[in-house]
Amino acid sequence: MPKNYLSFMRAAMMAIPLFYTFHASAGNYKTCIKFQIKTVDSGLGITNGPNTGGKEDYYLNANAGEEVIARGVRVQMSNGNWNKTFDSNPSTGCFSWSHAATSGFSLRVYGYATDSAGNYVRIHNSPNSFTSYPGQTYSILRTNLTPTNGGVDTYSVGSYDQKWTTMAVLAFSLYRFHPGLTNKAIHVGLDDSKCGGSSAHYGKSNSSITSGRHYLIIGNCASGGTPQSKRKFVVTHELGHALAALYYGSQVGAVNGSEPNVNDYSHPAQGVGLGPKDSATFCSQSSPFYSMRSIEWNSVGFREGFAHFVAAAIWNNQSYEGAFRWFEGLTYDLERYNYGNGDNNGGRLENECGTPFTDAGTNEDWLRFLWDWYTNRSTTCPQKPSALDMMKLYAQVRLNGGLTSKNYFDKMQTAANNLIHLPSCLRTSRFDAYAVHNGINN
Ligand SMILES: [Zn+2]
Repeated sequence: MPKNYLSFMRAAMMAIPLFYTFHASAGNYKTCIKFQIKTVDSGLGITNGPNTGGKEDYYLNANAGEEVIARGVRVQMSNGNWNKTFDSNPSTGCFSWSHAATSGFSLRVYGYATDSAGNYVRIHNSPNSFTSYPGQTYSILRTNLTPTNGGVDTYSVGSYDQKWTTMAVLAFSLYRFHPGLTNKAIHVGLDDSKCGGSSAHYGKSNSSITSGRHYLIIGNCASGGTPQSKRKFVVTHELGHALAALYYGSQVGAVNGSEPNVNDYSHPAQGVGLGPKDSATFCSQSSPFYSMRSIEWNSVGFREGFAHFVAAAIWNNQSYEGAFRWFEGLTYDLERYNYGNGDNNGGRLENECGTPFTDAGTNEDWLRFLWDWYTNRSTTCPQKPSALDMMKLYAQVRLNGGLTSKNYFDKMQTAANNLIHLPSCLRTSRFDAYAVHNGINN
């Protein structure tokens, strides 16, 4: 027991009547925060096939401007020399507090949000810094507030600005998608010098994943184009890379860095001799490199497919149909290739691209495979993998090791089999059927 414990207790006891006196005349306040956001990729339905018009399930009206709950957002209340910091409830965006004063309060909302497992995500202004806490966290100040004693005061902040749109999307995502992470830090640097170029794989972005830290960069230009900070699917795609890497990074045996051997641009269909980024148009794809529809070695499909999957799972409920909007301005059907028209076995790769298929894939086919498995439909094998199971699959592929640019599908099949907590039918027959259907098993 500390030497000064008794005197501390005595002081505390004496303070109690004072404490109650204080609160008897205090205001008891409940404050709720909302973000005003405006996206460019919400509610834009599938254009072809049986699910024409199908949309995602959340933030559907955000292109017109929407007020959304500021989930788990960090807020500092102050009055004169007094200040206190709160994290709003991740479900309600509210917090309760007391103070003797009834007016003259200020409120500062930070671009920082936590979830119920102690993970946090923040937006800051130094995207190329990889210190343990880079840059300055954006914030918004409201002053001269008179809260309602015994009531609820809701403050809407953000003014439909792009960086607060990104922040709302990130906060919602931590709340929506629970992949079994605890106490992780995701630092999201907004790059005002670019509209695009968002990434989870740049500089030292993934050099601290075994320490529970990941860095992201998001294009946030003010003019000259549409900033990716307004694209909820892009923001959550990058977040998806981070969540998967952090889950893997917290396992015994994990190492820092990227998925191994992903930057191999030698697939013959990309145009050997032309250079990877400017090969001839292939597979009806004018942008042949590393895009949603381009043919790549399956290492790219694995990495990008997982990030796409996380974005899909954030914005769509875990049921069969779903929609996914990508930044080239097209909405993908999570069940069917060709923007909703194609349902043959083999996916886009085998139906729309020319050979060789060996060890190849397209990112959209990998996305649909992971979605199909996650939303498994089978009367004889009814279980679905959870978000955590999906992260376990991702991590096991990396933990098993031996990855080359061309063997990621085989390695993923083995890793699925290793997930012995799942029913055998899900690990084998359902997994294999979806792989064949989506053309990733070559
Ligand atoms: Zn990516």
